Amino acid sequence: MTLVFFESADDELSRQALTLAQSLGDNVRAVTVDGPYAPAAWATAIVEAAGEDDIVGPGSDRGNEVLAHVSAQLDLPFAANVSEVRGDELTRIRWGGTLLEEARLHADRRLLTAAPFAFAPTGGELPVTVLTPLPGNGVQVVDHVAPDTGGKVSLADAKVVVSGGRGVGSAEGFGILEELAALLDAAVGCSRVVTSAGWRPHSDQVGQTGTKVSPDLYIACGISGATQHIAGCKGAKALLAINADREATIFAHADYAVIGDLHEIVPAITAELRKVKGS
Ligand SMILES: Cc1cc2nc3c(=O)[nH]c(=O)nc-3n(C[C@H](O)[C@H](O)[C@H](O)COP(=O)(O)OP(=O)(O)OC[C@H]3O[C@@H](n4cnc5c(N)ncnc54)[C@H](O)[C@@H]3O)c2cc1C
Repeated sequence: MTLVFFESADDELSRQALTLAQSLGDNVRAVTVDGPYAPAAWATAIVEAAGEDDIVGPGSDRGNEVLAHVSAQLDLPFAANVSEVRGDELTRIRWGGTLLEEARLHADRRLLTAAPFAFAPTGGELPVTVLTPLPGNGVQVVDHVAPDTGGKVSLADAKVVVSGGRGVGSAEGFGILEELAALLDAAVGCSRVVTSAGWRPHSDQVGQTGTKVSPDLYIACGISGATQHIAGCKGAKALLAINADREATIFAHADYAVIGDLHEIVPAITAELRKVKGS
């Protein structure tokens, strides 16, 4: 038997997970969890409901987090973002979609999440049982506080993102990117090198381990174009890359390229925009 965890009763990614569960060839039943999100408590409720069954969830942030807690509670291996299962062998999508991993699961029970959009969603005839976690079991959410963006557009919602990498040179160097962003009503993003150096907070990081953005325009300044960075900005409709190195990988992903020193080019773009806007 397989138990499928639904994030909510009509959730698209959960219905994709149901397709994966049905491909395992067993009888399938579905559960969802009621109440505020508390991953450890949700995992406990799922572990108790599952008995000895395999457990499959959606490859969403919550699906992967809850299944990771299930895995820790059962002390069993967990395979995330699975695109195919062949007995105890499986294929996983990794590194922001740039790597397919062939793996073998060394356990009697399967704990899996389905890679988003690797499976067609299955229709909604299957009843979804609602579980209620025990009070006091794990973390409880008491309030939601929106991040303070200081009145500026957030990275995830911005139509334009002006992003800086190591080439910016320092925290102060981001001043010229801030200036350009203000003119374009854009958010400022950055690479991991920048957050690791402490030039910008982690909330500004774009990439595999940062925010995934999908603006109309992504302006990458002094960013080399590592796969982990591209994983966060490949949803952009257009990418303008400014880089001093004409061989930089970022140019392979760019719709528009400017080869040169960003410390000259970014202020020049800002000055031209000011002329056009008459400000
Ligand atoms: C598990 C893992 C997860 C990761 N997650 C992320 C992630 O989420 N996001 C992320 O960004 N990275 C991530 N990384 C790191 C990633 O591999 C790269 O190291 C990082 O993206 C490089 O940052 P960068 O492009 O700013 O720096 P670099 O690779 O050093 O590139 C700097 C670029 O600036 C250019 N440059 C220098 N001076 C100038 C100038 N004056 N004018 C114009 N151009 C100039 C250079 O030509 C170069 O191309 C991850 C790595 C791992 C292993």
